[in-house]
Amino acid sequence: MGRSAVVIGAGITGAAAVWQLGQLGYAVRVFEREQVVGGHVRTEWMHGIPYEPHGAHIFHTTDEPVWRLVTKLADFVPYRHRVVIRVRGQLIPWPIQRSAVSQLPDGAQLVYELNRRPTSVDTTNFETYCVSLLGRTLYDECVGPYTVKQWGRDPHTLSASVAKGRVELRDDGYLDFFRDPFQGWPRAGYGMLVEAMLQEAEVNLGTTVTADHMSDVAARGEPVIVTSALDDFFAEPGALPWRGVRLESTLLRGVTLAQPAMVVNEPALAVPWTRTIETKWALDDLHDISGTVVMREFPGADAKHYPVLDAAGTNLATQASLERRLTAFRRNPIIPAGRLAGYGYINMDVAIRRGLNAATQIATEAHR
Ligand SMILES: Cc1cc2nc3c(=O)[nH]c(=O)nc-3n(C[C@H](O)[C@H](O)[C@H](O)COP(=O)(O)OP(=O)(O)OC[C@H]3O[C@@H](n4cnc5c(N)ncnc54)[C@H](O)[C@@H]3O)c2cc1C
Repeated sequence: MGRSAVVIGAGITGAAAVWQLGQLGYAVRVFEREQVVGGHVRTEWMHGIPYEPHGAHIFHTTDEPVWRLVTKLADFVPYRHRVVIRVRGQLIPWPIQRSAVSQLPDGAQLVYELNRRPTSVDTTNFETYCVSLLGRTLYDECVGPYTVKQWGRDPHTLSASVAKGRVELRDDGYLDFFRDPFQGWPRAGYGMLVEAMLQEAEVNLGTTVTADHMSDVAARGEPVIVTSALDDFFAEPGALPWRGVRLESTLLRGVTLAQPAMVVNEPALAVPWTRTIETKWALDDLHDISGTVVMREFPGADAKHYPVLDAAGTNLATQASLERRLTAFRRNPIIPAGRLAGYGYINMDVAIRRGLNAATQIATEAHR
């Protein structure tokens, strides 16, 4: 009999694991809680216009083998992502460029604060990190209120790690959001990419798997890759807090493009959404077509989107204890992978890399 394995969750991590297991000669059975594959990464279409009901997804990576894999499985178009932010009634590039700050109304005061910043960033917490990077006023107008909306908590209770890689001040005129050498968007949407990765597997939809159900889905000793949250896996939902977003999508007829970039950040507390997203920006050849879809992203939904990395490290400690329980699980070798199982924010390229690595680990351990 050939080798086999089980993957729990058919998001992009699970799909990448399935793909790699197939390449390594494994027959794979996938169990997915929802009635659709793709997890958080999903593209829908209205009148031929793409939108993403779970939030904007731009593929960008430095991982060349991952880029080669995704472009082999799906047709990617070149897309360079741009974000703007509304400050003092103006839309300026995000991340903020120093030159744009000086052109804001009363920008001289902001520049004065920038010139008086400490030489190194203060990593005590999210707020100290950002204030030492941007100055107090720019922080209070651009980052503080956005963060209160996004996280529903005081920014000083968040770890500085939440800001790293998300908040920066630029001085170089580089306007693209990402600097990665490989960037693009799948012409037919992300669903096609995930389905291509799953093409050889048996996919079971509408099936929630927990540690208690392991005997229903896997033979004793059969390797299992888990991409679900570990508190859900141990049937203790809620042990790990998450912050979620909810999107409202609106079709605007007769409009070709509604906003100057795919994403417009709205930091003001008076605006209940955090940003608007127009996915159509990703596909140049649609730009002249009449009709577009704009999504408003509202924070505070009951969904597992962003792990809450508190400054005290409490939630990461809970995650670590759940990981120890996974290691001690005797019936099956279990490998956690992906954003839910790792309780971390990771981009799609990293999710794919972790899925591929989890599969390779199974094959390596089988040969020991
Ligand atoms: C708002 C937002 C915007 C983002 N934008 C980008 C971006 O622009 N670029 C980028 O690279 N990344 C982006 N990401 C990150 C990207 O969404 C993740 O990298 C990706 O979703 C990780 O996939 P995953 O398979 O690990 O998790 P998921 O997509 O959550 O998939 C997990 C799957 O497991 C299933 N599942 C869960 N529990 C069980 C269970 N007990 N039994 C069976 N099935 C179960 C779920 O239904 C789901 O299908 C963004 C994330 C967010 C929140």
